[in-house]
Amino acid sequence: MAELPDRARIVIVGGGVAGASVAFHLARRGERDVVLLERAELTSGSTFHSAGLVGQLRADPALTHMNVYSVELYRELEKGDHAPGWVESGSLRLASSAERLTELRRQHGWAQCAGLPLELISAREARELFPIMAMDGVLGAAWAPTDGQVDPARLCSALAAAARDAGVRIVQRTRLTGIDTLAGRHGRRVTGVRTDRGPVECEAVVNCGGMYSAEIANLADVRVPVMPMSHQYVVTAPLPPGALPDRPVPSLRDPDLLVYYRQEIDGLVMGGYERTSAPAWATAAPPADFNGRLLAADWNRFVEIAANAQLRVPLLSEVGVASMINGPEGFTPDNGFCLGETEVAGLFVAAGFCAHGIAGAGGIGDVMANWVLDGDPGLDLWHMDIRRFGRHYRSPDYTLARTRETYETYYDIRYPGAERRAGRPLRTSPAYAWHAAHGAVFGEKAGWERVNHYAGPGDEALRPRGWAGRLWSTCVEPEHRAVRESAGLFDESSFATIEISGPDASAFCAHAFAGNVDRPPGAVVYTQALNDRGGIEMDVTVTRTAPDAFVVVTGTAFGPHDLGWLRRQARLADAAVRIVDTTGGLACFGLWGPAARELLAPLTPAPLDNDAFPYPSMREITVGDVPVRALRVTYVGELGWELYCTTEYGARLWQTLAETGARPGGYWAIESLRLEKGYRAWGSDIGPQTTPTEAGLAFAVRRSGGFVGAQMALREPARRLRCLVLDDARAVALGGEPVRVGDEVVGQVTSGGYGYTVAKSIAYAYLPVNAGGPFSVGVDGAWVGAEVARSPLYDPRGTRIRA
Ligand SMILES: Cc1cc2nc3c(=O)[nH]c(=O)nc-3n(C[C@H](O)[C@H](O)[C@H](O)COP(=O)(O)OP(=O)(O)OC[C@H]3O[C@@H](n4cnc5c(N)ncnc54)[C@H](O)[C@@H]3O)c2cc1C
Repeated sequence: MAELPDRARIVIVGGGVAGASVAFHLARRGERDVVLLERAELTSGSTFHSAGLVGQLRADPALTHMNVYSVELYRELEKGDHAPGWVESGSLRLASSAERLTELRRQHGWAQCAGLPLELISAREARELFPIMAMDGVLGAAWAPTDGQVDPARLCSALAAAARDAGVRIVQRTRLTGIDTLAGRHGRRVTGVRTDRGPVECEAVVNCGGMYSAEIANLADVRVPVMPMSHQYVVTAPLPPGALPDRPVPSLRDPDLLVYYRQEIDGLVMGGYERTSAPAWATAAPPADFNGRLLAADWNRFVEIAANAQLRVPLLSEVGVASMINGPEGFTPDNGFCLGETEVAGLFVAAGFCAHGIAGAGGIGDVMANWVLDGDPGLDLWHMDIRRFGRHYRSPDYTLARTRETYETYYDIRYPGAERRAGRPLRTSPAYAWHAAHGAVFGEKAGWERVNHYAGPGDEALRPRGWAGRLWSTCVEPEHRAVRESAGLFDESSFATIEISGPDASAFCAHAFAGNVDRPPGAVVYTQALNDRGGIEMDVTVTRTAPDAFVVVTGTAFGPHDLGWLRRQARLADAAVRIVDTTGGLACFGLWGPAARELLAPLTPAPLDNDAFPYPSMREITVGDVPVRALRVTYVGELGWELYCTTEYGARLWQTLAETGARPGGYWAIESLRLEKGYRAWGSDIGPQTTPTEAGLAFAVRRSGGFVGAQMALREPARRLRCLVLDDARAVALGGEPVRVGDEVVGQVTSGGYGYTVAKSIAYAYLPVNAGGPFSVGVDGAWVGAEVARSPLYDPRGTRIRA
């Protein structure tokens, strides 16, 4: 047994493909003071029973980038001493319905943006590549020639061997039993681990525990919402001689039938996502001796998949099953990976790969090595960041309900903006009952119930074509118009709010934020916080409430991320500040529109004129009988206020405001309003990989420097976020669509929608500064002409917000 050192800079827990890849990439970056602990043998978790398919294309460009890198790595390893069995067989994805065909066309657009080879082909061409498939009902297919398959166990061994050769110590049959942390001014940090063979002092721990990762994180009282779920496939007996061609056969996915297939020597591996999911263990924690083992086959749940599989490959009805694999795998509540640093400094996680850990392993190891060594993964990993999960995911039941839902709908078509059902309602505003009683149609974000729109009549003629017209409502236009013409009322109680206070609060905020936040109490500043690459980590308003106190308002889903980022900066700067999440204690209602002042004035003794209450600023006022912190700011481009009160007053404040006659509206109207006004959305238009200059936000950055990311913030960009107006107003982009000049794809839509006041289909995209057009946007696979417009389309001089 390998010797266990008593100290190492970095300890990796878990000897599956993820742990091996993190070790490999740390070593590749020159970090050798690394120990990998494995409680049994390498490859004895989910990795050994994986089906080994490697597909690259995903909705999230960052994940596609990571998977493309994985393939490059597996190709490279295949040429070396430790070949992982990489076979570049390609992959096929079938469309057996018109909607699925549109989905393939949209995915083709993503592939074009990523530069990934992918071709849309006919059913006949698909059958030439996969000759045992029946063409019944197949309308087309996507062919990705550089996808492939790899032997998961050999891949894990290859990465581990290369890491070991580079100096990483791999210690098997050694179980992590504890994680030691030390509490400091800004939370806890890792100091070491305990094992069944003794302690190891360390600076960082990377939890690569796969389906065991929740249990590992529990040792430090950290919640990683990964659920071990049963996941099954069969290996068939050999097919009749000559059934398969004498060349590697591509893998085949038929999502409408819930199945996938890949070649396994002279037979097939066939699996899928059952409509009824099953957690592997009722307690959520795998047994202490569950290594190198499988679960009992569960044929009852597999019946539908087995029957469907024979529809697409009829030969399977004549071929027996050699074995059934029921292996547990770590799934997450939203089908995205769990990567990054947890709330304990130095405790990282790379787990929850939802049956894509083999495809992802190369990229996962790469970004995690960057994250641990640089404090930054080098990519925009928001959709995979562990900080996207709020505290409500500490509940195992909620986590399981959400996880089951994503598992069971895995192969369903995901229309952008579709709402989930599981675990709702959970977080509600004090005005929730009012909304429900007034016909609100709710959406869910970060556990919050938010009004998408209220039910009511509207103009059907405006419905966009294609996918954008599916999740669309006639009710949005009147809500939008009310804001532009009189006043609208919105419940924004889900906004995340963070209070920063203490003797160093002013200096710390000046260090953390790029804008000029060092202003007198009552000042409100729209600003960003940047990473060292100048990328936007936070997009917020910062209000000074006292000489030593600031309130940060950020988006509904971004609270834990922003809190984590701020606390990390405070720790690095050793700042004497308190950083507290105040989200749950506050309700927030937005009253906006040209009539907003007129409607609010009778409710408050406070003066609301421009001298007493200019844009942007904050005043403590009363509204009706409620003490309110009023911020004169807007995300819709009109005169108005965000009105905050503590939650016990929330129902009364909403009632008071609703009685003014302002028209209640929802988030879909806000989206349309902000698109016209050119306000950016973090997570789509801007993020850790876009700088303020690229995003057109240089105005919010102070020239004097002295803040994190200052050196890179204002560098001359090669691309800029542009506002495109589509020639056809009923062709509406939803995000992810390719933008091209001639035949060359030059950008990808970050967000899009319809602006009811400007009567235009609007899309934002980063375009090369020298791209001259003419542009076109690939909406549902059809190219629609577009022009770059002078942004913002609505009220470019900002006179309305200062009215
Ligand atoms: C049936 C099935 C089919 C799949 N098919 C595919 C596919 O086609 N393509 C694809 O990309 N992915 C697929 N996957 C998913 C893929 O196999 C996993 O995502 C991947 O193997 C996970 O690797 P890991 O390193 O995160 O976890 P694991 O391989 O589970 O490794 C975790 C390790 O941590 C160790 N450990 C746990 N607790 C401790 C402790 N306290 N101390 C020390 N060590 C500890 C465990 O012993 C284990 O070895 C499939 C999975 C299943 C189940």
